[in-house]
Amino acid sequence: MHSRLGGIGMTSQRTRVRMIERLRKDGIKDEVVLSAMGEIPRHIFVDEALASRAYEDMSLPLGFGQTISSPFLVARMCELARAGKKLNKVLEIGGGCGYQTAILSRLATEVYSVERVASLLYKARGHLRELRVGNAKLKHADGHFGYTTAAPFDAIILAAAATHVPDELKEQVMLGGRMVLPKGSETQHLCVIERTVDGFVETILNEVKFVPLVPGVV
Ligand code: SAH
Repeated sequence: MHSRLGGIGMTSQRTRVRMIERLRKDGIKDEVVLSAMGEIPRHIFVDEALASRAYEDMSLPLGFGQTISSPFLVARMCELARAGKKLNKVLEIGGGCGYQTAILSRLATEVYSVERVASLLYKARGHLRELRVGNAKLKHADGHFGYTTAAPFDAIILAAAATHVPDELKEQVMLGGRMVLPKGSETQHLCVIERTVDGFVETILNEVKFVPLVPGVV
């Protein structure tokens, strides 16, 4: 394996195995998610100066005022999106550096990801190419409008907090599918919205802290 992908010391496979053990201890139960997180090297997604901290359970700066979500939150959101089932099509809003996109590429047949900051999108494309991820399509756009040409999705994950869930996004969830998102502004909660025959059913989970969903592109 290419040495950067393989990693050494704090970026080695052994460090990643310890991260998985910690995620399991912290309550992540979905073995498919855990194995995807064991496979994808997180250190290649962050600046070299931060690589030794890539497997700690913390969010890290990505530049442009954005952060890569902590391993626990990535795992939790993927677990909630999967709900124990293989995903066919999944949409990620706020792809950032592409780490969660790479994890999702192991959980779904097709991954679509939207990012508003062009420079982050280019970085993400580079990382996914390095990992030879071939089933993810990335678009530079405002995620408030989803990804209409690929809709409907089994699951939509937002990596940025919304105070109110855009109707355009809800419309792109298929019947029986779900959205997983941080909801709120000052105080945010992880939230699952399922689309059922009777409409949208919202479940509020624990308190979280994400960057806000911002309109427009840069
Ligand atoms: N999952 C990402 C986390 C990135 S943080 C990762 O693994 O790196 C949240 C991201 O949401 C940021 O990159 C931010 O630029 C993006 N974002 C915020 N508002 C957005 C919007 N309206 N449309 C698309 N992306 C948005």
